[in-house]
Amino acid sequence: MTVVLDVQDLRVAFRQDGRLVEAVKGVSFAVSKGETVALVGESGSGKSVTALSTVSLLGGNAEVSGSINYLGQQMVGAAEPLLRKVRGNDISFIFQEPMTSLNPLHTLEKQLAESLALHQGLQGKAARARIVELLDKVGIDAPESRLADYPHQLSGGQRQRVMIAMALANGPELLIADEPTTALDVTIQAQILELLADLKRAEGMSLLFISHDLGIVRRIADRVCVMQGGEIVEQGPVAEIFANPQHPYTRKLLAAEP
Ligand code: ADP
Ligand code: MG
Repeated sequence: MTVVLDVQDLRVAFRQDGRLVEAVKGVSFAVSKGETVALVGESGSGKSVTALSTVSLLGGNAEVSGSINYLGQQMVGAAEPLLRKVRGNDISFIFQEPMTSLNPLHTLEKQLAESLALHQGLQGKAARARIVELLDKVGIDAPESRLADYPHQLSGGQRQRVMIAMALANGPELLIADEPTTALDVTIQAQILELLADLKRAEGMSLLFISHDLGIVRRIADRVCVMQGGEIVEQGPVAEIFANPQHPYTRKLLAAEP
């Protein structure tokens, strides 16, 4: 099976007040084509830093070493043009709602049009048709009638659907979803998870899914990597990890599950 993302011995430290603070301490995992891999662990365990490293989205105070191979291309230390290409066409992100990048002053059409113009050169009618198609794909009803809406006119679940549409706009190979349902009500969470699973199948994407919630991971992931204190303490197929956890921390997480 094709390996889309191969992370080997990733280390990230942040320069702070003249010293280095380690956030990720030698993490290795891979995502194969069409697979959903989950990074799970409590807040501060290094999940987001690991995800953001894939396309160098960490700030200037980060020191990164190790290897992040995306379809044969090395992302650690990659030049800016390659990073821009991969960010624009290959690896898309969705974040927890409060961190998202929907512009409150732009209509849905404008938010999506900017990305389509920038990365695919689509303008005017062609762009509009693609926007309607994307909104329809993520389950926005009567999308033509919503094009002029602003983000505040949508519910939290609908906003997250629009974020997913933006992430899909360039047909990414890998979607990285960082706590995409954490800010949503439980019933809406389930709908968004179902949407992600359906889209992943339909688009043949691979998914790196980040969550602190084991219940969600169990439903959506093929493989799971359990993170604690900047390390992966255990990883394997979801069924195996849940049925027969080896590491004490995984056992503790599972015992704490409702
Ligand atoms: P998680 O996503 O698992 O909750 P993060 O990956 O966001 O955790 O953070 C891991 C650790 O790295 C935390 O201790 C966090 O404070 C630290 N960290 C993250 N980003 C920065 C940064 N830009 N500068 C300094 N420390 C950071
Ligand atoms: Mg995080």
